[in-house]
Amino acid sequence: MNAGSTLRPLRVTAAALLLGSALSAAAACGDDALGTARVLTLPREAAAYGRMQHAPLPLQPDEVVITFDDGPRPESTPLVLKALRAECVRATFFMVGEPMRAHAALAREVKAQGHSVGVHGWRHEHFAALTEAAQLADLRALEAAYREVLGGTAPAYRFPFLEETPFLRGALAASRTTVMSVDLGVEDWEPQTAQQMADKLTQRLAASRGGIVLLHDAQDRTAAALPLLLRTIKAHGYRVVHLQWADEPPASGLKSSGG
Ligand SMILES: [Zn+2]
Repeated sequence: MNAGSTLRPLRVTAAALLLGSALSAAAACGDDALGTARVLTLPREAAAYGRMQHAPLPLQPDEVVITFDDGPRPESTPLVLKALRAECVRATFFMVGEPMRAHAALAREVKAQGHSVGVHGWRHEHFAALTEAAQLADLRALEAAYREVLGGTAPAYRFPFLEETPFLRGALAASRTTVMSVDLGVEDWEPQTAQQMADKLTQRLAASRGGIVLLHDAQDRTAAALPLLLRTIKAHGYRVVHLQWADEPPASGLKSSGG
């Protein structure tokens, strides 16, 4: 036990249990859980983050944001949720529109468990190969699915294959949607063992001092490896940051009267 460390997850004591549901939730995971160290709330604006293509997120050294793409998928997403629950970790899921609508209850469950939800295309297309009309049709179908399943508009978008087009960047900027690229990944779409994934994660987190990690909840191997990956993050002393977005667009000079 290292009671003096500020890096530890919430400690659960009899007194803490009286303090509310957030602390009570911590009781569900072990005293040694990775935990979620802090929440980073981003404004709803036309920003773009992720060092592979854009500016870095405002993270401290050794802070990690965990993201999952391509779900929801009934065979693997529930296992990912279970592994995150066991470590009291909150992540961001970039869902594809078609499975989001086909598995609406699962999409809502992801959100209900406290994770953030962004979007990742309606059909996961290579947009560079599509006409502008087809790109816009994909975006509109995606927006309709999000509205139907989760309500409102998605605060964040990750391009399928990270293949960004100026046309869709413009459309997303107009709707004040944050574009989220990545800092590092472990190629979890390729065959490999959980240990190989963990070794890559160790190496790349060390090289970048943390950052936005790309994983795929639609991959069985990722769901199976996730407990080890989270233990690896914990073992090396990184701290998990949960991304959230403000509900309202940022004030643009005039005070909104609401609505
Ligand atoms: Zn994808």
